[in-house]
Amino acid sequence: MSYCVAVRALCEFTSRGGDLDLRFTPSPTAQEGIAGHALVAGRRGAGYEREIALAGEYAALAVRGRADGYDAARNRLEEIKTFRGDLALMPDNHRRLHWAQVKVYGALLCRARELAEVRLALVYLDVVSQRETLIEETFDAATLEAFFVEQCRHFLAWAEQELAHRQRRDEALEALRFPHAGFRPAQRELAESVYKAAGTGRCLMLQAPTGIGKTLGTLFPTLKAMPRQRLDRLFFLAAKTPGRRLALDALATLAPAEDDAARGDAAPTPLRILELTARDKACEHPDKACHGDSCPLASGFYDRLAEARAAAVRHGRLERAALREIALAHGVCPYYLGQELARWCDVVVGDYNYYFDLHAMLYALTVENQWRVALLVDEAHNLVERGRGMYTAELDQGALRALKRSAPAALKKPLERVERQWRALNGEAGDAAGDDDYQVLDGPPQRLLGALQGLTAAIGDYHSEHPFALDSDLQRFYLDTLHLARLAELFDDHSLFDATLRDGRRGARLSRLCCRNVVPAGFLAPRFAAAHSAVLFSATLGPADYYRNLLGLPDATPWLESASPFSAEQLDVHRVRTISTRYADRPASLMPIAALMAEQYRRHPGNYLAFFSSYAYLDQVAERFAAEFPSIPLWRQSRRMDEAERQAFLERFAADGRGIGFAVLGGAFGEGIDLAGERLVGAFVATLGLPQVNPVTEQFRRRLETQFGRGYDYAYLFPGLQKVVQAAGRVIRSPEDRGSVHLIDDRFGEPRVARLLPAWWNLAGDGR
Ligand code: SF4
Repeated sequence: MSYCVAVRALCEFTSRGGDLDLRFTPSPTAQEGIAGHALVAGRRGAGYEREIALAGEYAALAVRGRADGYDAARNRLEEIKTFRGDLALMPDNHRRLHWAQVKVYGALLCRARELAEVRLALVYLDVVSQRETLIEETFDAATLEAFFVEQCRHFLAWAEQELAHRQRRDEALEALRFPHAGFRPAQRELAESVYKAAGTGRCLMLQAPTGIGKTLGTLFPTLKAMPRQRLDRLFFLAAKTPGRRLALDALATLAPAEDDAARGDAAPTPLRILELTARDKACEHPDKACHGDSCPLASGFYDRLAEARAAAVRHGRLERAALREIALAHGVCPYYLGQELARWCDVVVGDYNYYFDLHAMLYALTVENQWRVALLVDEAHNLVERGRGMYTAELDQGALRALKRSAPAALKKPLERVERQWRALNGEAGDAAGDDDYQVLDGPPQRLLGALQGLTAAIGDYHSEHPFALDSDLQRFYLDTLHLARLAELFDDHSLFDATLRDGRRGARLSRLCCRNVVPAGFLAPRFAAAHSAVLFSATLGPADYYRNLLGLPDATPWLESASPFSAEQLDVHRVRTISTRYADRPASLMPIAALMAEQYRRHPGNYLAFFSSYAYLDQVAERFAAEFPSIPLWRQSRRMDEAERQAFLERFAADGRGIGFAVLGGAFGEGIDLAGERLVGAFVATLGLPQVNPVTEQFRRRLETQFGRGYDYAYLFPGLQKVVQAAGRVIRSPEDRGSVHLIDDRFGEPRVARLLPAWWNLAGDGR
């Protein structure tokens, strides 16, 4: 069996040493990188070859990659790197890595074309001045071959243990057994469809209610499929921490590590499992910066990485605490050790953004290493909003004004240029907007973006010269500007470019610019295409077309709904059609809602959740309720609750407790919380959850109407009802639960709304 490794991965393994140095390097945008490569190639002669596929073998290693360019007339092989700022400040270990890459390519080229020697060039292109700096040297084939062999030898022991691990892993997964005596009702069917999706290399959407055992029911068949489908990696991607926790717990049951296995009868499974944690949670020195001059865990990071990596893969179970322990024992940063281990673990559990966002590490690794990857996307209904967020960028003129007051003198002029362009844009947008404060622009404002580009280049230069002088506001503005610039380059009809105007001091108009994604499909589709298979699952993943269209799933993606493990008798559903919760009708609705809740509580005392469309509405009903029914305990969700306050809110739902928790729909208590049995006996939902009608949502409606012909449904109805069903879904968590749901609004009686409620609910007998 041979071990495939990309040239870049090989060199990163063998040729990196010294500090981790993420010093604010002003890297070019992706478009600038592509344009830079094209520019260099365009300057070469007619016979210049681009993207030359090269491959070679050494012992059990198969090395492959694409060299940037070869000029046959000069016999020169080029590795092109785009950059901004001062090239002299590039750390030595970066340069060493670049040389290692081009030398390996050189060796492979000499082998392939039987060259006796070749000139190797590192071509550094300054994307601002478009000037090239060439560092070149001629090497004979024997020297390059020796270098290649040395790199391969250095890597070989690691590759051999990787191959051995893969073999043991696959044998263990072949023999894997479901950890419980049997599947839950409908769980087997779900597991079979997931196995089939992995077997046929497809995407699959699964709507399955809570309680069916989705996490175990999707992980088990995917792990089973790994050996037969020659899957390299499984990525379990979740929107929130509880989803990741459930996955890690399910994995511990399915494939016990040595410690867990020793406690039970099971044999340990040689599976490497990594939990990815956000940088702000994993960082040990939040007051420092990620480079060796500031942080002790960055200093000498690459010198100590090999031992830390070896210890981590031996351990195999790399949840946050274990990873931290290993990292600190070896004096390296836990966050960046986690990033490194994503290359070497079989199962990675992390947030959506690690695979789906613009710079997603797991996606980049998948493409670079040509991995066969299975994706499991937990609570996938969240991916629409999360996807939009990943491809949206904002910039506020107020932040620019604040910077102008504090920025170093070297940045005053470029800041002033940006301010001038921004003022001009406000004038144009203000004229077009008339009395409104919101204006959708025809496209990205190129003059302002040009000025912003000049500013980011100036900040980059300034930082190169004063590496420690950048304050956090300037750095934040810089990063926000780069993000906006990147999305502006990718602007298309999937997004809006808008300006929201407001009055500043002394009558000046200020604005907030936003490149706002409406349809994330175009960005997410390549992510799904790069995976061997993808299963998206949720209790609320319908209608199928809505998710298929917005997420960019292939047209043929099947949508399956699992039979509910719950029966209609478990849940009394009442559609209260005598009350309207429309904005204009809210004052009149307060007393009827309060009375309805009190009546239900008296009939069946216990813990209830009541959901409202906003904090204002929640407070109005809560105040009326407290005044009219003071003997019934109530507690409220408030804005910006911290972790402890959220926990205290949930602790009021004791099994022997009584009272009503007031919450907002779509907030922290509307999904992802588990209050089984008597902890929650009913819910009231006094809203359809429709997003607020405002200029932005109205633009979404228009854009979605143009693209899919269902503007109102896509912008308002489907997202609203999805939240209602999630909230109501808090009541029945197991086949033993009993409870009630009151859906309070006359529109719940409309057939188009009723169609979006779960099929297992009995709507026939809700005669109120
Ligand atoms: S510990 Fe924090 S500051 Fe240090 S390298 Fe890690 S993330 Fe950066």
